[in-house]
Amino acid sequence: MAYDGQIAIIGGGIVGLATGLEIASRFPEVRVVVIEKEPFVAAHQTSHNSGVIHSGIYYKPGSLKARLCVEGADALLRFCQKHGVPFDICGKVIVATSDSELPRLEELFRRGNGNGLKGLQMLTAEQIREFEPHVSGIRGIRVPGTSIVDYRKVAEKYAELIACNGGTILLSHEVTGLRRFGSNTIIETTGGPVEARLVINCAGLHSDRISRMSKARLDLMIVPFRGEYYDFVASKQHYVNGLVYPVPDPQFPFLGVHFTKRVGGGIEAGPNAVLALKREGYSKKSFQARDIFELAMFHGFWRMAAKHWRMSIGEYHRSWSKAAFVRALQRLIPELTSDDLKPGGAGVRAQALSLNGDLIDDFHFVYTRGILHVCNVPSPAATASLAIARHIVDMVAQDLHKK
Ligand SMILES: Cc1cc2nc3c(=O)[nH]c(=O)nc-3n(C[C@H](O)[C@H](O)[C@H](O)COP(=O)(O)OP(=O)(O)OC[C@H]3O[C@@H](n4cnc5c(N)ncnc54)[C@H](O)[C@@H]3O)c2cc1C
Repeated sequence: MAYDGQIAIIGGGIVGLATGLEIASRFPEVRVVVIEKEPFVAAHQTSHNSGVIHSGIYYKPGSLKARLCVEGADALLRFCQKHGVPFDICGKVIVATSDSELPRLEELFRRGNGNGLKGLQMLTAEQIREFEPHVSGIRGIRVPGTSIVDYRKVAEKYAELIACNGGTILLSHEVTGLRRFGSNTIIETTGGPVEARLVINCAGLHSDRISRMSKARLDLMIVPFRGEYYDFVASKQHYVNGLVYPVPDPQFPFLGVHFTKRVGGGIEAGPNAVLALKREGYSKKSFQARDIFELAMFHGFWRMAAKHWRMSIGEYHRSWSKAAFVRALQRLIPELTSDDLKPGGAGVRAQALSLNGDLIDDFHFVYTRGILHVCNVPSPAATASLAIARHIVDMVAQDLHKK
């Protein structure tokens, strides 16, 4: 056996690493191994996101997302402070640009208060301009605690601390199969087999494939949604002071294209949400036959397509047409022009889709036969990573010491 760990975590993204750290620090006698297919940690969603530490205003009070986001944001800020990871509590403004958005803006205000957020403030059009002089809207909400961070740096710090606590991170080890061996699981990897008493599947965009390797029938599929960004040119970065978001469409689990200040400098606009034709494909032309075939074979995909085709066409149009993307942004900053933006990066979200065509909104975990599957941890899972890790470890804690 290449490695024999009591607990193996598949996936060295922010959720897998936070989970490894939680186990290594809470149960120092337990051997932890994190198995990652790439040559470095945080290679996918964790390093291709907006870098926002969400406060928890969007999520339905009582949902896992709401609770773990609020707890996680607080824990993450304390973690960054303690370990010297740079962050900025720059605050955010959510802006309504039409009367039809006002009921949803008010609902967000109620949710934020319901989730215990401090200092929320309803803004008039004039007050919006006091915070963001170039932003135009009819009403807004100021969320003072929303912050920014570089999640790659956070994940690298989690990895460093796992190693300091005696855990192991196996890089360039792709998991290719799982089989039961007595009460243990043998994890086949490209670097040799690993045996573990408990397995935690944190494989992000591939988590459903890992579930299928274990023969778990979860009746869901990961759908990849690419999010593309534009960067502000240097001379226009004064247009935005902090974070500026539209009022999100409640039919869709994404937040709408927004303006994001980066902790390392610069301002981004985006991301949109386009169905990606490759799970880890970061360009418009990325394409993988297996990914498309599996999507087409999943009934839930066609049900989702029937519900959201209109929205999808709009997103594709904005993806291919910079003018259309800029028009969407001009609702918030009317003076913005195409010349103010240059193409930026992209990320791909892992969004779970149910058999009946619903995009699963809340965080979702399934624990069965020695394997815990992290089935759906979209945004704000980077924010919530430490709280998600605590939640996962609470679920498996009673089995950690079984012989
Ligand atoms: C465009 C975009 C913007 C976002 N903005 C924010 C934000 O501002 N704030 C926020 O809180 N969240 C945000 N998110 C969400 C957040 O980034 C993700 O929820 C979070 O990173 C998920 O972490 P993860 O560890 O589950 O996944 P990942 O980071 O994708 O990690 C999964 C890991 O598993 C590995 N893996 C997969 N298959 C295998 C295998 N077979 N063998 C071994 N390893 C494997 C992968 O290589 C990868 O490293 C955003 C996401 C995107 C894409």
